Amino acid sequence: MNLKESRAYTPKRRISRQLEIGGVKIGGKAPIVVQSMTNTDTRDAKATIKQIKELEEYGCEIIRVAVPDVEAADALKKIKTGIKIPLIADIHFDYRLALAALKGGVDGLRLNPGNIAERDKIKKVVLAAKERSVPIRIGLNAGSLPKTDNRRLSVSTRMINAALEQIKLLESLDFELIKVSLKAFDVPTTIEAYKKIADKIPYPLHIGITESGTPRTGIIRSSVGIGTLLYMGIGDTIRVSLTSHPREEVTAGYEILKSLNLREHGPILISCPTCGRTEVDFIKIVDEVCVQLVKVKKPIKVAVMGCVVNGPGEAADADVGVACGKGKGIIFRKGKKVSVVEEKDIVRSLMAEVEKL
Ligand code: SF4
Repeated sequence: MNLKESRAYTPKRRISRQLEIGGVKIGGKAPIVVQSMTNTDTRDAKATIKQIKELEEYGCEIIRVAVPDVEAADALKKIKTGIKIPLIADIHFDYRLALAALKGGVDGLRLNPGNIAERDKIKKVVLAAKERSVPIRIGLNAGSLPKTDNRRLSVSTRMINAALEQIKLLESLDFELIKVSLKAFDVPTTIEAYKKIADKIPYPLHIGITESGTPRTGIIRSSVGIGTLLYMGIGDTIRVSLTSHPREEVTAGYEILKSLNLREHGPILISCPTCGRTEVDFIKIVDEVCVQLVKVKKPIKVAVMGCVVNGPGEAADADVGVACGKGKGIIFRKGKKVSVVEEKDIVRSLMAEVEKL
């Protein structure tokens, strides 16, 4: 399948009201943004800056940090000056931390209506955010829903109701720099919640599956949940929550977007599952190609195929490819066969062709 053909199936997006977080456009027709969250101690500004810089390298476009206490809020100013991407403060329980974070110069706030509910406290935060034109994400989480709500209702309805109530409060204060998220661990619950709220509000949606687990299972849960929503046109920013280093979240986020043709970011690797026809140490070759491709920023398609059945077809369709044979590899570039090399030279020859693109 050629690129034009696959692009024809790119999902149609729900067009939300656009806003900016630290210069990054969110919603409307802006590209879907990949976010992550640090797992360093925010009070340790040096370690947090170091991690954010690494995430910037991986393409992270917005970063959120936990602000559990005043010391963490105080560190935000320093963190902000040490990084390039927009900084969002994640606030729970204490509205005063949100006020301190705004003073520290953050570009966005995430508030949880499940644990900051008093109107006068929220009002103080909203007015301070409005003064600085800082957007607020109303971030609902199935695990921390408001205690006062009707527990006989479904979790998705309870998340929606809590979000709508908070939105009403922000709108009553003439504040519309709003982003919303409704995350649950349960994938169908999350999809249902986003699907329903998408028709009720004009604001951008931050999507993700919360507490989705280790990369092995979490990437699958997130891909199913986030992928389904994106295919329905829902979602303006994404975060793949993983019990891992956040670089894994960023990489997985782009892979989800790339798989739906919604973003280009670095290479796409096409490799066959191998079978009894393979006559080279194929998994080793693919692993090596994978490692080498990490450094490549170009949005190219690289095909590594185990034999001559589908090999030449897929390899020829990619920007660069190899179709392996008995201890050999036929190297292709832009559909043309360029050389036949020994097994030991396959990775080097393939990467040399990547360099030439
Ligand atoms: S490309 Fe060849 S080796 Fe790979 S799975 Fe298909 S038939 Fe098997």
